[in-house]
Amino acid sequence: MLVIKNANIVYLSSVVHANMVIDEDTGKIKAIKKVLNKEEESHQTIDAKNGFILPGLIDIHTHLRDLQQSYKEDYHSGTMAAAHGGFTTVIDMPNKKPEISSVKELRLLNAIIKEKANIDVIPALMVKKCLESQKSTINRYYYPYYKLYLSGTTATTGETLDFALNWLKNNRFRVVMSHCEDEQFFVTNEDCQSTPHAHNICRPPQAEENSVKNFVESLVYNSFLDVGKIHISHLTLPTLVDYLHEKIKHGYPLSFEVTPHHLFLNTSDHDHLGSFAVVNPPIRPKEVQKQLLVKLLEEKIPIIASDHAPHTEEEKRSKNAPSGIPGLETTLPLLADFVFKKKITLNYLIRLCYLNPIKLLGLSPYWPFRAGTLANLVILDLKSEWKISGETFLSKAKWTPFEGWSVHGRVLVTLYRGNLVYFCDDVSK
Ligand SMILES: [Zn+2]
Repeated sequence: MLVIKNANIVYLSSVVHANMVIDEDTGKIKAIKKVLNKEEESHQTIDAKNGFILPGLIDIHTHLRDLQQSYKEDYHSGTMAAAHGGFTTVIDMPNKKPEISSVKELRLLNAIIKEKANIDVIPALMVKKCLESQKSTINRYYYPYYKLYLSGTTATTGETLDFALNWLKNNRFRVVMSHCEDEQFFVTNEDCQSTPHAHNICRPPQAEENSVKNFVESLVYNSFLDVGKIHISHLTLPTLVDYLHEKIKHGYPLSFEVTPHHLFLNTSDHDHLGSFAVVNPPIRPKEVQKQLLVKLLEEKIPIIASDHAPHTEEEKRSKNAPSGIPGLETTLPLLADFVFKKKITLNYLIRLCYLNPIKLLGLSPYWPFRAGTLANLVILDLKSEWKISGETFLSKAKWTPFEGWSVHGRVLVTLYRGNLVYFCDDVSK
C-alpha cells in the first residue's frame, strides 16, 4: 500500500484536500479520504506538500527513437523523460530508423517497448509504407493509429494520398495523425538546415496553410468524413486554428495540436538558439506566435503535444542540423507556469494534455479520481519557482531552447499503475 498525504486532488470543477490510498498490486486507487486509519498511517507515505494531483498526462506526439537511433533516445530514457514531465502515456511516431511500416515491424517494436518502457507507449504506423507492405503481407488489418506525412522523404501526396485514404477507409482506423507541409512551397538552398533564419525561408507558412487546406479538401473528395478522426500535428498558424474550428463546427471529424515551442518561441529567439531552433514546421515570427498564444488564452487549442524530437548536441551544432526539439520535460512546467500566472485554468491544462487526447485516442479513462480507478497520476508543485535546465533531463538529449527560463510547476511525483516511476528526492518518507 502507498499513501499520498497532504494532496490537493483535482476534479472536474473542484479541488479537494485529502489523502489518497493506492494499492500497488492492483495499480488502482483504494480510497480517497480526509482521515487515515491506523493501518493506513503505517504504510509507505508520500508527502504531496499541498501539491496538486492531476491525471497522468498523455502526449500524442513523441519520437522516442530507439532501434538504430538509440544513441539519441531509447524507450528507457524516453519514458523516464516522459515520467519526469508528468506523462504516463505517449504516442510514438513511426519515422524511425528503420521506419515502422508493417505489422511485422510493429510486433518487433512492441516487444522492445515491453522490455524497456516505464509507461504506456503506443506506436503509430506509417501510412505510406503500410500501403507498400499491403501488397505482400497486409490484406485487411485493423490498427487504430496512423501517421501520415505530406512532405519529406516519407511523403504521401497526390494520387498516392487518395489511394492511401481509400485504403485506410477500407481497413478502418481510429486516428490518422498528419504532418501538413506542402513541398511545392519549399525553397531549397544549402543553408536550410544550418541556420533557423534560412530554415524559415526554406519552409514558409504558405507550405503549412496550403497543405492543411488541400488535405481537408481531399478528405471531402474521398468521402472520408465519417470514417475516423483526422488529427493535424503541430499547427503553427492562428489563421488555421480559425479555419479548422469552422470545419469542426460543420461536423468534420478534425482535431489538431499545437506544440509549446511554437507557442512560446519566435524568430527573435533564433540568434541565441542558432541551429538548435531548427524544427519542422519552423518557429514563426513574433506577431504570428503572439496570435497563436492568444488562441491558447481563448481556449481554442484542443491539444498540446510536445513533438519531443531528441538529437545530440553535436548533431544540432552541425551544418546539417536535424530538425527537432526535445520537449517531454518542459511541456508541463511551461503550461503550469501559465496556470500559476492565472493565464489559463488548471481545468484547461487537463483538457489539453489528458481529456482531449484520451477522447481522441479512445483509451480507457482514469480521471476523475475515485476508488477503483487506475493510479496513473502526477503530483505537481505549483508554488515554487525554479529554472529549467537541460542538465536535469532524463532524456538523452540534455539541452532545451527553454534553458534558464524561470517557471512554476515542478513535477514532484509520477505514478504509473500505482507504482512510482518518477519522484524528486524530497517527497518520499
Ligand atoms: Zn514529429
